[in-house]
Amino acid sequence: MAKNTRVCRYANCPFEGKLINLDTDKYESDEKKFYHKECFERMKKEKEKQALINADIACILDLWQKHISNTVNYGYLRKILNEYLERGVSSDYMVYTMQYVVEHKLPLRYPPGFRYMLDRQEIQDAYKKQQAAKLLKQQKEYKPQRHSEPPKFTVKNNSGTGFGIIANEFNK
Ligand SMILES: [Zn+2]
Repeated sequence: MAKNTRVCRYANCPFEGKLINLDTDKYESDEKKFYHKECFERMKKEKEKQALINADIACILDLWQKHISNTVNYGYLRKILNEYLERGVSSDYMVYTMQYVVEHKLPLRYPPGFRYMLDRQEIQDAYKKQQAAKLLKQQKEYKPQRHSEPPKFTVKNNSGTGFGIIANEFNK
């Protein structure tokens, strides 16, 4: 290793050997750790995203405990929620589903039943409507002088999980 190189500490660093040349590469350092500038930005975004997801999960656990069952096995419920996250279901949609279940007093008692709620067409439709309204509101707020088109929902035909549309459109 040359004198002026460091190893980038970002776990998913895409650069060869994760090496940073301090003379020629853009980098950030955080205490004694070094990162390529690009890796640092990516890591920051991932952390922010993870913080949002954690807050959403905490919100679901809280609603569950208050409205469904206060003896729910947290570890088990968390595990199930994480499985959906891994399958591409957005945490935002999961919170929405949970709120919908509570508001409409839908029959949900045990963590495995949450899947059926996520799958419910009426909830998916209500969520899409809410997202469309949100987009429209944002457009009005940020571009008041421009004539803006209403948001279009592209429905991607993502076969498989059944959550494709939700995941593709909103898990960003
Ligand atoms: Zn890197």
